[in-house]
Amino acid sequence: MNAQRYPQTSVSPETLHKWLSALLCVLNSVYFLLNMLLVQKLGLGGIQLISAFFGGYCFFASLKGQYQPWHSYTLMTILSVNILASASIMELVAGAIFWSLALPIWYYSLFGLKKGICFSAVVMVSTATILFLRTDTSLFMPYRTVFNFTLAYLSIWLVCHLYEVQRQKTSAFLHSLALEDALTGIHNRHALKTDFSAIRKKFTRIHMLIIDIDHFKRINDTFGHDIGDAVLINLANVLKQSLNTSDIYRLGGEEFVVLFKEMEDIQAKEWAEKIRQAIEQEIFHSHKEEIKLTVSIGISALQPQQEFTDFLRAADEKLYQAKHEGRNKVCF
Ligand code: GH3
Ligand code: MG
Ligand code: MG
Repeated sequence: MNAQRYPQTSVSPETLHKWLSALLCVLNSVYFLLNMLLVQKLGLGGIQLISAFFGGYCFFASLKGQYQPWHSYTLMTILSVNILASASIMELVAGAIFWSLALPIWYYSLFGLKKGICFSAVVMVSTATILFLRTDTSLFMPYRTVFNFTLAYLSIWLVCHLYEVQRQKTSAFLHSLALEDALTGIHNRHALKTDFSAIRKKFTRIHMLIIDIDHFKRINDTFGHDIGDAVLINLANVLKQSLNTSDIYRLGGEEFVVLFKEMEDIQAKEWAEKIRQAIEQEIFHSHKEEIKLTVSIGISALQPQQEFTDFLRAADEKLYQAKHEGRNKVCF
């Protein structure tokens, strides 16, 4: 799904990754200097130097628009190993272990729900084990320390989880509002425009069908607007059933659009004819009567360099011709 089709519901993983890279570059440089100058921990200093370099690399790659998902995975792996190694090697009172409490926030924000759960669980168990092994057993401290750590960690993890679930729901809701037709549930005109841009990058041969119900106004006038609505829903279902494509759109009113990819002209015309016949044979039921419908269909084939509006207009002109020639007809 094209991320630009509807607004983001939170900061994008790319943006988050960019600033996390910068933060890690600076923090690791500082920690590297402190570790080398004050405590001479060469191994840990080495990890921090690598982290600083990789953070810097990721930041500049993001600035140049060259972000790759593996950057985030590598960055977070280095960061997690760094934190767990610091917690294992440095004196516990130095508090490096506190950093693991921040990790679920980054995991969920960068990788989403499933990976957020897995990575957070691994870090919680690893950190709790380090705490258990490194605290003084003679005073029965480990249990209390591990217990308190686990509760604090779980509370942060829970909030991250709930926020991510809510974010995904909001995102799906916005997605349906922006791209679905409220009445029929199929894609709307906005989706057609954005899908077309994506489709034309991949396929050269594209056909557009505009399907318009003949004398639909009469159905509204005879049976009422509610029945008219039910007929539109029914027609969308007939289109879905007769075509094995998801590229079906409601353009507005009683007009629908279908996009065909990589089809010969003759095949596109045959499919249009099949649609016309399927609708002609379908019986649409009102609460008391059976309604018969026909449609007129205009087809256009995409020309090189043709804009969306011109492609649509070409199909519309053919539709007009089909209406003019008596309706219940396909024109190409
Ligand atoms: P033609 O064969 O020339 O296409 O005639 P037509 O009656 O189908 O076309 P016209 O453009 O005159 O009328 C379209 C009608 O579609 C008018 C409008 O009330 C109705 N319509 C548009 N949107 C909806 C809708 O969402 N629900 C219902 N029930 N009717 C709608
Ligand atoms: Mg119309
Ligand atoms: Mg009509």
